[in-house]
Parts: sequence; C-alpha cells; structure tokens
Amino acid sequence: MAVAKKALQIRLPPLPSIKDVIRLYKLRALRELSQNFLMEPRLIDKIVRAAGHIEGNVVCEVGPGPGGITRSIINQAPRKVILIEKDPRFIPSLELLADACKDKVDVDIITGDILKTDIAQFIPSDVKTDWMESPPPVNLIGNLPFSVSTILIIRWLEMISRKEGPWAFGRTRMTLTFQKEVAERMVARILDKQRCRLSVMCQTWCNVNYKFDISGAAFLPKPDVDVGVVTLTPIKKPLTNLPFKMYEKVVRQIFSMRQKYSIRGAETLFPEDVRKEFALKMYKMADIDPVTRPFQITNTEFTRICEAYNEIIKIYPEFENYDNRAPKAKIQVDDAKDEVKNK
Ligand code: SAM
Repeated sequence: MAVAKKALQIRLPPLPSIKDVIRLYKLRALRELSQNFLMEPRLIDKIVRAAGHIEGNVVCEVGPGPGGITRSIINQAPRKVILIEKDPRFIPSLELLADACKDKVDVDIITGDILKTDIAQFIPSDVKTDWMESPPPVNLIGNLPFSVSTILIIRWLEMISRKEGPWAFGRTRMTLTFQKEVAERMVARILDKQRCRLSVMCQTWCNVNYKFDISGAAFLPKPDVDVGVVTLTPIKKPLTNLPFKMYEKVVRQIFSMRQKYSIRGAETLFPEDVRKEFALKMYKMADIDPVTRPFQITNTEFTRICEAYNEIIKIYPEFENYDNRAPKAKIQVDDAKDEVKNK
C-alpha cells in the first residue's frame, strides 16, 4: 500500500507576534493603502491552505504588510517566496522573516506597486508547464488591498487571456481576498442578483471558487465590510479567443442597463442612428432573444454575442472604436452614419 508522503513543515525560530511587530516597528495602518491586517494565525493558515499544496512551489504574495500570511506560507516549505509590498515601512519586518528562514527558503522582497511590477522576472524558468497540463508549481496569494483588487484582477485576467506574466509559465493559480460583495460577483452564475461584467469576465477565463468568508472583525483596523476568499484557476480552453478588451467592452455595454432588456445595452455599441438595426442583427447572429435581461445570459451566450460583434466590426471597422460615453460621440455617429450609407 502506498504510504502518504508527510508534508514538510518549516519551523521558524521564535519571532515576535504580528501584534508586537506592528507595535515595535510603529506600523500604523494607512487607509490610503487599504491596510487592514489579519491577526489571527488560524485564519491566516486557512487562507494559505485554500491555495492547496504549496510545498516546493514558488509563491508570490501581494501586499505582505507585517508578514502574517508570509509566515504561514514559509511554514509550508515553499521553494521560493516573492513579496511585493508598496509600503517601505514593512521592509525591515519582512527582512527579519527572510533572515529567519534564509537556509531553507529563498525570499525576494520587492518594494513596489503590484500594478507596475513584472512578477514573471522573479519566477525561475524551470517551473514552466504546458498550458494544457496541471497548473505549474507557482501560486499567487494575497490579502489584497481593497483599493486595487478589482483593477488587479481585471488586469490579471487580461494577462491570462494572452498567457503573459505569471501565466507564461502555465495556468498559475491565485488565492486572493476581495470585499465580500466583489467576491460574490466574481462567482455569480446566471439569474444571481450579483451577476455582472466581473462575473462573466472571471468565468470566461477561469474556474472561480468562493472558499469562505472572513468577518471584518478579524482585521486590524476593522474594515466596514466582510471579506471573501476566492481561488481562480485559468481554464485550459477559455470560452473565447477573442481579444480581451473587445470582449470586455461588449459585456460592459450589455450590463450598462442591467434592469432593462439586454439588447438596450447592446445597442450602445453602435452609433445612434444605426444601433437598433445592428444590435438586432448581432443578437440574431448569436441566436439570443433580445428580450433577455443581462443577468439571464450564460457565459457561452456572451461568447456568441461577442463573436457576432467581431464579425460585424470586420465589415464595419469604424464601429470598433465607437464609445457612446465619449464627448466626441456625436461626431463619430455622423461619420459612421455616412460610412454605413456608403456601404
Ligand atoms: N498581508 C497583510 C495581512 O494580511 O495582514 C496585509 C494586507 S493589507 C489588506 C494590504 C497590503 O497591501 C498592505 O500591506 C499594503 O501596504 C499593501 N499594498 C497596498 N497597495 C499596494 C500596491 N499597489 N502594491 C503592493 N502592495 C500594496
């Protein structure tokens, strides 16, 4: 009978508690950097466990702050830990941690903005795995700052769509926290009241799982909202190969009038004088009922709508840059009207 391999654990030397680290280094939380620290080791371990098996993996943590989650990651004996923290005040406490495990784990500490950091440069190339195989031994983990979480996930989804950055190594998994209502939107399926653009964008490229809630009371200082822990694993075959930005535009416009028939939002993809005609044409090509509401459309139906839109703009490329919110929309409408007439 096969004997289960015992998980390796790294035992760190005695270190001051996270509470003491915050006190010793005078790390008053800054609201502008969405700093809410997790103090409870059991909860911290639960987040790290949600990432699955990370022993021997390369783990990138976003916003380690005083290092509570970092300690838990190191305990699981990863091969390498990459820490990206914007606030330089945390660096001494992170260096203390890196020093405590220096013989066992390679720790890179980067002072920088996650939105501007090329994570891939810190990931060793030998972890690269074929996209169609199991995910590579790389994990992105973070108790994300609320101020960047939605921008970051949209940016990462775009990178996933292009297999860039950490996704140049394969289907790199993510274990991240979001405001509870954002997390609920990410996993919302059709007919859910939280279903929105973010749900469709996440589910078109990833398997998204809502793991558990964390009460706001577990953080210091306590935020006004609760938090949801979400894992995302890129899908082997995403629901579309269309360009991310185009897909996002179509989904965004359709959800722009979420209580109305979805075709009303879809019409805003086209200049005013031709919008009814072209939205209907697009829905007909995609075989979607125009009186469906946005939250009643499945992910694959959105893909069909986007494919129909793509076909239309191949014939009418002037529609591609049409933006109904742009101040110049009137001029663009006039231009498009003339061109449509001439075709
Ligand atoms: N990981 C710590 C924990 O769980 O207790 C801190 C989490 S706190 C919610 C968010 C952390 O992200 C803070 O340490 C903050 O300084 C950092 N941060 C904020 N904006 C950032 C950015 N753009 N890039 C990198 N780190 C950022």
